[in-house]
Amino acid sequence: MLVLRSDLPTKIFMAVQQVVPVGCPNCGAKFNAPINNIINGQDIAVKMAFLQGQLNLVQCPQCRAVNPLTMPLLYYDLEKELALVYVPQELNLALAQQEKTIGDLTNALMKQLEPEQKKFYLFNPKTFLTLESLGNAVLEADGITPEIRAKQEAKAKLLQKILQAQDEESLKQEIEANKAELDSDFFEFMTSTMQAAYMEGNQQLVQALVNLRTILANSVTDGAKIVKEIDKKFGLIILEGREDLLERLQNAPSDEYFEELVATGHGYLDYIFFQLLTAQIDEATEAGNTTQAESLRTLRTKILQLKEQQEQQTQEALQKSTEILKEIFKIGNPEKVLSENLDQIDENFFMVLSAHIQQARQQKQEQAVQTLETIGHMAMHMLQEAQMKEQQKKMPSKPAPKSEILTAKR
Ligand SMILES: [Zn+2]
Repeated sequence: MLVLRSDLPTKIFMAVQQVVPVGCPNCGAKFNAPINNIINGQDIAVKMAFLQGQLNLVQCPQCRAVNPLTMPLLYYDLEKELALVYVPQELNLALAQQEKTIGDLTNALMKQLEPEQKKFYLFNPKTFLTLESLGNAVLEADGITPEIRAKQEAKAKLLQKILQAQDEESLKQEIEANKAELDSDFFEFMTSTMQAAYMEGNQQLVQALVNLRTILANSVTDGAKIVKEIDKKFGLIILEGREDLLERLQNAPSDEYFEELVATGHGYLDYIFFQLLTAQIDEATEAGNTTQAESLRTLRTKILQLKEQQEQQTQEALQKSTEILKEIFKIGNPEKVLSENLDQIDENFFMVLSAHIQQARQQKQEQAVQTLETIGHMAMHMLQEAQMKEQQKKMPSKPAPKSEILTAKR
């Protein structure tokens, strides 16, 4: 069985540059907090945490409130030749002070770099007064333009609005009012939101999104077809219920797909499911359709065997994933451990991870939640990168491997 640890270490892999005294804005407690004020954009974990606003969040040891620290920081990326500095406008620094702050950060960075890495641009970082604008500059350097971002934000807003519909009638109205926006791009956005929620262990949101996506897909022209194509592209199987699973199993075009269906639909393969199947067998028998009854019986045996076999495999995989996670915390270098075990990073790994996240969240261990989420984001990022490299190698591109599995109900 899966054993969850309650004493999760926090932020062990983030290089801490400084420890500063802070005061809790909530309860006034004074304590020391570790901070990162020099961010290496090539360090994926730190970059991800930074972009998600999870860097330099401190938890008060007394009241456990979590607050972001407002302080100057330097972001650099030697590969992209980026040097960006954030000087919070809230600090109201005079120009001379501002220059000194930037100079201090630059000097601190220089101490960390090898002589050949000390390039001219690093001495002239571009200044930003808000964290958001700096984050945008980082994204832009990644090719994510303001236009792309604006479109993403509009989709996020629309999704939020539809999700908040209180009843069937207002949901209908929202759908009707925004029909033109419910295009393939929107469904793709929704699906990746679903994946992210799944990875973060937010089953409630996954469930809501799966249900909503089905409703939306049925409300627009070709919606079902669009969704099917996206799931294929993302390597997803999304089941709507036991009937849906049974129908798909009966019509599975290949053994491979059949196996995937049994794996994905594991949560549905319960007493009710087999009752449903038995009822169909009885029906066929009564109608004198012996061939049909026989093939349904064969189907039942096949499902049961496969289910047992997969449970055994899952158990082993979960154990392996737990070991990988333990290794990460032991060594404190997730990038190294993940890249060495990338072939083992699958839905089981994310399942173990999300169980830990849920537990940490329940215990209000905010930093542990952040650490685990960062590991998850890193793993996703590394998988995507590996996938992209794989696709570039063998053009024309093949569909992505099944890396994520979602079911409507678990
Ligand atoms: Zn406090």
